[in-house]
Amino acid sequence: MSQQIFGTNGVRGIVNDGMTIQLAMDLGRAIGTYMSGQVVIGNDPRTSADMIKSAVSCGLMSTGVEVIDIGMVPTPVVQFYVKENALSGGIVITASHNPPEFNGIKCVDADGTEMPRHKEEQIEKIYFEKSFKSQAWNSVGTLHRATRAVEPYLRNVMSLVDTKTIHDADLHAVLDCANGAGSVTAPILLDDLNVKAVTLNSNPQGTFPGHPSEPVEAHLQDLISLVKSSDADLGIAHDGDADRTIFVDDRGRYLYGDCSLAIVAEYMVRENDGGIVVTPVSSSMAVEDAVRRAGGEIIYTRVGSPVVARKMIETGAIFGGEENGGLIFPLHQYCRDGAMTVAKLLEIVAIEGPLSKLVDNVPKYCQDKRKMACPDSRKESVLTKLVEYYCDERVDTTDGVKIWFKSGWTLIRPSGTEPLFRIYSEAQTDKDAQKYSDNCQKVLESLLE
Ligand code: MG
Repeated sequence: MSQQIFGTNGVRGIVNDGMTIQLAMDLGRAIGTYMSGQVVIGNDPRTSADMIKSAVSCGLMSTGVEVIDIGMVPTPVVQFYVKENALSGGIVITASHNPPEFNGIKCVDADGTEMPRHKEEQIEKIYFEKSFKSQAWNSVGTLHRATRAVEPYLRNVMSLVDTKTIHDADLHAVLDCANGAGSVTAPILLDDLNVKAVTLNSNPQGTFPGHPSEPVEAHLQDLISLVKSSDADLGIAHDGDADRTIFVDDRGRYLYGDCSLAIVAEYMVRENDGGIVVTPVSSSMAVEDAVRRAGGEIIYTRVGSPVVARKMIETGAIFGGEENGGLIFPLHQYCRDGAMTVAKLLEIVAIEGPLSKLVDNVPKYCQDKRKMACPDSRKESVLTKLVEYYCDERVDTTDGVKIWFKSGWTLIRPSGTEPLFRIYSEAQTDKDAQKYSDNCQKVLESLLE
C-alpha cells in the first residue's frame, strides 16, 4: 500500500506537533503541483488558522498557483466558491469538530465536491516523492484577498427555498454556532428569512470557549434549556466549520441526525414526486421508512460524505445525507451544507410544523453501539467468514458487513485506525438491538478463535 497522509476528512493533527508548518507548506506544494491554475482557500476560526493557511498558501504559490483567500467562512462556502468561479480547486483549513489544538487541511475538487480518494492518492504521491513543481521567480503565484464570498452563497441558498412562507411564519429560533465559522453565515441567513433568533456562541473564537465544537447532546445543554424556557420553534446548532446542522425541537428534544435526515428526506421525496435518496449503510431504518412511505427509493453507500455525494451524482438522486447532520442538496451543491439544511428545515417547519409533530411522525428505532478487539491482520478473513456464516440472511457488504434480521440489522465495520471492529445494531426495542449485537459478537469471537 502506498503511503497515506489524508484521513477520512483531509489531513488533521495537533498544531506544531503533527500539524506543522513544514507539513502544511509541503502539502501546499503537492496540491499546487496537482491542481495548478487558481485555487481558493478559506478557514474556520481556529487560533492556528493564519499560520497554517499562510504555510499552505506559500507552498501553492511556489508552484505558480494563484491563491484567492476568502478568509474565515464555513467549509461549504469554499466549496460553493470553487464551483461558481470555475476554479481548479479549493482548500479548507479546518479540523471541523476536533478540539481547538487540532487543525486540518482539506481539498475541494474542481466541481466543488470533496476530493475523491483516487485524486488524494495522486497528491500523496507528489507529497511523498517530493516531486513538486517549482516556478522561476517571474512565474510564482500571487495571493489575492477576496471578501464577500458569503453573499452569493447565501443568495443561492435563499433561492432554493420558499422564502415567502418562511418569512410569513414568523418563526423564533435559538442558534448555537459553537463559536465556529457558522457565525458568519447563520445569523445573516436567519435575519434574511425573518426568523427571530437568540444567538449563543455565535461570535467566532478559535478556542471554542462556549463548548467543544462537536454538536452532540452533552455540548448543547445551554441551547436545549434556552429552547425550553423560551417559546422558540426550534434550536439550531452547527459544528465548527458549519457543514453540519443539528436541531432541537420546540419541546427541547435533541434530534439525532437520523431524525432530521428522515424528516427532510421524506419532504424532499414528496416535493419531487419520488426520487432517489442516498445515505450510508450506517443510517437508521427510520430514513428508509420515511423515504419509502413518500414513494422514494433509497440507495446505500459506504460511510463518508464524499462517497454519498459521488453516488448522488451518478444516480441523479434528489437528496442525500449522513446520520451526523450532514445533509446534501444537489440543486445547491454536492456536499454537506449547514446553511442549506437550516433553510430547508425552516421551510418544512413553516409549512408542516411544529417540528415536534414532525419528529413524532418519524419511525422510532433503538440502537446499540459497541467495539470489539480484533488484530488488524485478522479483520479481513474474519469478515469473509462472517459473510459465509450468515449466508441464509440478507447480507450487504457495501461497507463492512451488514446483516438484516427480522426487525433490524447489525453492521460490523473494521476500524481504519485501531485494531477493532465497530458493531452497530438497530431494532424496534433496546432489548432486540442488544440481542443482535450480542449474537454477532459471539459469532465474531468464535470466528476469531
Ligand atoms: Mg464539519
